[in-house]
Amino acid sequence: MAFEWEGTRVGASSTAHFEVPVCTMASGHRLMLSVHVVTGNRAGPVTLVACGSHGEELWSVEFARRLKQFLVRDGHDFAGTILIAPMLNPHSFESGTRNTPIDFHNLNRVFPGSPAGKNWFSDMLARVIADRILPKADLIFDYHGGGSDTVIHYHYTVDPALSARHATVHQVALASGAEVLWEQNEQRGTLTNCGDQLGKTCFVCEIGGGGLILDVDYFEKGYRDLLNMLKVVEVVRGAPEMGRARIVVRKGSSIRPAHGGTFVPVVGLEVLGRSVPGGTVLGRVHSPYDFSVLDECVAPFARTEMMQVRNRISKVHPGEYAYIIGDGDTGYAP
Ligand SMILES: [Zn+2]
Repeated sequence: MAFEWEGTRVGASSTAHFEVPVCTMASGHRLMLSVHVVTGNRAGPVTLVACGSHGEELWSVEFARRLKQFLVRDGHDFAGTILIAPMLNPHSFESGTRNTPIDFHNLNRVFPGSPAGKNWFSDMLARVIADRILPKADLIFDYHGGGSDTVIHYHYTVDPALSARHATVHQVALASGAEVLWEQNEQRGTLTNCGDQLGKTCFVCEIGGGGLILDVDYFEKGYRDLLNMLKVVEVVRGAPEMGRARIVVRKGSSIRPAHGGTFVPVVGLEVLGRSVPGGTVLGRVHSPYDFSVLDECVAPFARTEMMQVRNRISKVHPGEYAYIIGDGDTGYAP
């Protein structure tokens, strides 16, 4: 299955690398976005795997590199073309921050962005992604995850009754390997909201984090989970393994410390994807100065579904992510 990138042909079962120009930075550096092309051994849709719009989410950036290796290792045995955009926000990655350090905006809230010269840098970057990368795909998997001190595993879904596309998104979520799914229909300037507007079928994967970087098997698990999702949309052959999701929550939230200091977890990875009773102490913020307890993070819902954990002793700012949680009582068993 051949693929054409702006006039350059990439033959079946091949790889290629292209760069999309963004602009010249104040440093004189000409910012380019990388897109890797891996073609399959038969005809099919174009699937985009997007990573790195939040630069502190290192897990997905390394996953992108390994994904290309995995696809080649397995003999390009898939339909169509897989585009891998490993790093959509290079300056955010460089600084290790969620937001773009040039203008302090969150790239994944400003899509579809603005034309060059009309708005902030993040808006211009979003527009280049929206104009030059997203239109090339039929299916878009946007990967997010934990930062250096957190680990995430959940998958967004929608109400499958709303349309055929919603049903596909839900089926893919059921095949994602996540135990907790979060049904959400917010329009909030994300890459996938933009993809939806372009008529693409979009999926948001939340997986990985700094606490798993040493576990190289988890990258292989992430790849197996992606292959399973791609079976649903018939990019990969075979019947997908369904039923791995335990609950779909309709109300989610985050727990963020009210005060900064030294974060000391009480629970860890063992509760990720599990339910804990309301009132369970999850972690505490200690003053590194007078050693007092400045904040205590407590499971707020009678059945609190754990979608992200902060599993490292770490410096924490007030307002940073500690936990992402779902209200189990708003949910249903899929
Ligand atoms: Zn993210």
